[in-house]
Amino acid sequence: QISIDEVKASIRDVVDFPKEGIVFKDITTAIKDPAVLVYCVDELYEYYKDKGITKVIGIESRGFILGSVLAYRLNAGFVPVRKPGKLPAETIQESYDLEYGTDTIEIHKDALNKEDVVLIHDDLLATGGTVCAATSLVDKFGVKKSYVNFMVELDFLKGRERIEDKYDVYSLLRF
Ligand code: IMP
Repeated sequence: QISIDEVKASIRDVVDFPKEGIVFKDITTAIKDPAVLVYCVDELYEYYKDKGITKVIGIESRGFILGSVLAYRLNAGFVPVRKPGKLPAETIQESYDLEYGTDTIEIHKDALNKEDVVLIHDDLLATGGTVCAATSLVDKFGVKKSYVNFMVELDFLKGRERIEDKYDVYSLLRF
């Protein structure tokens, strides 16, 4: 079986993407490898299998990849959180600050209910702005409980500090 170090090594660093000075963690080199994909999904399944998850939320767009596989494995539903204007029916929105300007994400108004136990998934945790907006959206539904999961966490940006008081946060790979 593949080791966690091999899984970490399968993630590619892309220098100066999407702009100068940023080293982008590219998960495409990891998930194209069947052994890595199986490892990631199996580890996450083991962690969440007994938590009673009813819906997995994937954040656009890389959060859709493992998010939907996990939903299937956990026998849960899948709910997309998207950039504005992509979801066809009535939505609720949340805006968050970026280094320059703001960004917005949204979810369908009827996507969750009070009985749901939710797993919020994204590919990567950086500053935590995106996931904080996602947890705010989910909290508006008054769900039973929310878990937060990432494939990759960038420790040095300390995004975890913004969410770990309120949510169970688990990242598969930490750099
Ligand atoms: P945050 O809001 O600063 O935590 O940034 C996280 C969001 O930006 C996630 O939706 C990620 O998909 C994306 N992101 C930021 N940095 C990277 C990266 O190095 N690789 C892949 N996605 C990233």
